[in-house]
Amino acid sequence: MDENNKKIAEITPMMQQYYAMKEEAADAVLFFRLGDFYEMFEEDAKIVSKELELTLTARSKMPMCGVPYHAAENYINKLINKGYKVAICEQIGDPKAKGLTKRDIIKIITPGTVMNESALPGVQNNYIALIYEAGEELILTGADISTGECFYGIYKGADRCQILCDELYRLMMAELIIVGALSYKEQLAEFLDLHIAKCVITEIADASADVDNRIVEHFAAADRPTGKADKEAIATLLDYLHNTVKTDLTHLNHLTYIDASENLVIDTYTLRNLEITHNLHDGGKKGTLFSVLDFTNTAMGSRKLAKWLEYPLLDRYKIGQRLDAVEELTVDFSRRDAIKEQLKDVYDFERLLTRVEVGSANARDMLALKKSLYALPIVKNALENVKTGFLQAIDKNIATYDELADLLERAIDDNPGLLLRDGGIIKDGFDKELDEYRTLASDSQSLLQKMEEEQKQLTGIKSLKVGYNKVFGYFIEVRKTNIDQVPETYIRKQTLVNTERYITQELKEFETKILGAQEKILQIEYRLFSEVREEVKKYIPSVQKTAQNIAALDVIASFAEAAQQYNYVRPSLNGDGKILIRDGRHPLIERILTRDLFVPNDTELDNQQNEILIITGPNMAGKSTYMRQTALLTLMAQAGSFLPAREAFISPVDRIFTRIGASDDLASGQSTFMVEMNEVAHILKYATKNSLIILDEIGRGTSTFDGMSIARAVIEHIRDKVKAKTLFATHYHELTDLADDKHVKNYCIAVKEKGSKVLFLRRIIAGSADKSYGIHVAKLAGLPKNVTDRAEKILIDLENSDLAGKNGKFVSKTETAQENPVIEPAMPTLFGSTLSEEIQKLDVLTMTPLEAMNTLYKLQQQAKKEAGRL
Ligand code: ADP
Ligand code: MG
Repeated sequence: MDENNKKIAEITPMMQQYYAMKEEAADAVLFFRLGDFYEMFEEDAKIVSKELELTLTARSKMPMCGVPYHAAENYINKLINKGYKVAICEQIGDPKAKGLTKRDIIKIITPGTVMNESALPGVQNNYIALIYEAGEELILTGADISTGECFYGIYKGADRCQILCDELYRLMMAELIIVGALSYKEQLAEFLDLHIAKCVITEIADASADVDNRIVEHFAAADRPTGKADKEAIATLLDYLHNTVKTDLTHLNHLTYIDASENLVIDTYTLRNLEITHNLHDGGKKGTLFSVLDFTNTAMGSRKLAKWLEYPLLDRYKIGQRLDAVEELTVDFSRRDAIKEQLKDVYDFERLLTRVEVGSANARDMLALKKSLYALPIVKNALENVKTGFLQAIDKNIATYDELADLLERAIDDNPGLLLRDGGIIKDGFDKELDEYRTLASDSQSLLQKMEEEQKQLTGIKSLKVGYNKVFGYFIEVRKTNIDQVPETYIRKQTLVNTERYITQELKEFETKILGAQEKILQIEYRLFSEVREEVKKYIPSVQKTAQNIAALDVIASFAEAAQQYNYVRPSLNGDGKILIRDGRHPLIERILTRDLFVPNDTELDNQQNEILIITGPNMAGKSTYMRQTALLTLMAQAGSFLPAREAFISPVDRIFTRIGASDDLASGQSTFMVEMNEVAHILKYATKNSLIILDEIGRGTSTFDGMSIARAVIEHIRDKVKAKTLFATHYHELTDLADDKHVKNYCIAVKEKGSKVLFLRRIIAGSADKSYGIHVAKLAGLPKNVTDRAEKILIDLENSDLAGKNGKFVSKTETAQENPVIEPAMPTLFGSTLSEEIQKLDVLTMTPLEAMNTLYKLQQQAKKEAGRL
């Protein structure tokens, strides 16, 4: 302590001030304003010079580094993107005053609280979240202050940390606050490490001391949480936001409760594995279900689509409402086109409004707002006489703002300057005073001439002149010969040899006006702009609500567009636990395949004879694809989307679980058998009769008999206890003897042997495969012939030695093979042959020639496929 004091006593008052500021924002890089620069010192200077490649200098051995204040934004954004927090310390006193300039931290910018467009992650949400533990409860609360969204959830029960982590995966927050001691710290740290690439963690010792006021300040009575701990958590988050952003945050005015019981629960593993909104490759959007379905035209719509996919619904009525709306826009494509066109004119309302709220909106934001507001009546026009309840409700909830749009139209210049302080943002004709000053500034010459003419007329002095010089300013010059004609109102100012110079009250006023005009213009423009901004503020809650409805409309139109472009059908919903899909396609793979056509497949799952499907088939046959397709289509239906299938009947599921055998799951970087077993344990614990389970080659990460035993026991447990609909792919042919007539069925993926070649038919059929065809795959992959020949010999030897049979527990491969020939001659598809049915159904007389061509083409494709199978 003494040491420190001594150090401070030795340093300059300014550095004392610096240290005081630094203490206030210890975990941030401090941008300390010095004249036209922001300076960083010591450790901060080292960080900044390294991260931003700036020169590190030194003042009396202290490392220093600086950036010009007008270029700071760019540097700040870079630091934020790299996960730093930046505290901005400004000079706030009068810089000309005696002594040390007063300084203060005016805001702290952090990855979870940036509002600057260029620092935000595209149009997607940028969340900050907070975790608070109170007894048996974990509370998660969070916000996206760039859009004004605010939410909380409460997690109880033994798997509370797990479920909370799943929620964090959906949020992909940029910043996480942990309040006080947390019993799940390690588990959480491990999760963040594995799954959330960039997340700054801030630890706060205590919850807010001002709970009730904070809550009341932001949320209406109906939104307010009731629990003590929930309130504490939310108030603590709000405190943090206020202390960081340090501006008005009244746009955080609506709090939603995350109610897991209303949604299809998808855990992190499944979300990742099915690549719903983030791909496995780099966490981006490319190659995700989101990217296939994203035909949205607004930023709000894009964010909402991600939400709908991450939180599919459970309630059949609600899903049906969305499907009705999608159907209406699928059929009525001229209406859809009209909506789409108008939505293109709607900017990111939510972020626009936030900038208005915090005072960072510029004139261009106002123009964007105007354009968006003008689009609203046309959007509503396009919704006229919609038939479905969902679209009618959207129409009702989209308000129009003619008055506000007109105000912006009258006030804001159509081509405004970028910076408010440079002016040129208010239109001529909006304000009389401003017009006067502008006229003054631009027409000063002609005004002077006009005044000169007037004075000539008034006095009758023909040689009268109005002039200007730097020392005396404006004057009226009269020849000495005319002095007697000068009116009394003229005040003499200067006498020259032949002339006298005067000033008049009018000219004096003109002078002060014209000299101050430019400055005045800026002042008035700024004042008027602020007034307009205040006016816009009044509309924020209402426009926020409109924005939400625009977003929903955008998603519905997007689903309809995807349905039409990719030939999707409307799923029929049922409540009897059945999932029947006819000619289903994998939405992603069918888009990626360029050379081959995707081969559609049927799925039949229920809680009776088709509860557990064991799927065997050679490597690369399409097992994983088929199972994921079933999960994806179920999820899509529950999100309200149409499906890539010929026909589908979906009974909503409460949870979807997918697990992939450890050795197959390379991407997650945790390919250990232990993790795999953890995951399986989790499923067996939490799956219900209404869940959908996808198990893909589990048990692979250990020795054959171990793995096989575990796989068998898991199936038995699901069959006897869990009773969930389950797809189970395995290369253990021995498991196919689990098939019974009550719950478990065998399926395999058809292959065709042609000499030594194997053709993958990609067609799922009843029965079981008996070979893994690994050697054929090895041949395809180009392994040297002597190696594959030798492998074939070894295989024959192994098969003859009948290892599995000697072990006694399992049915041997040869036996299975005899029972189930690889390809049964009459391969039944789940729904029987359809080509002739399809032809019979055609209504040839009402077809257009183009439709006829398309139909013929499709039938031909189908015929070819069916021929290929035989
Ligand atoms: P498995 O899990 O049986 O080893 P995958 O499901 O990984 O096989 O499929 C291997 C590849 O086969 C996929 O990457 C895909 O390109 C292709 N494929 C799978 N199913 C189909 C299908 N129904 N139609 C066309 N190609 C398919
Ligand atoms: Mg596979």
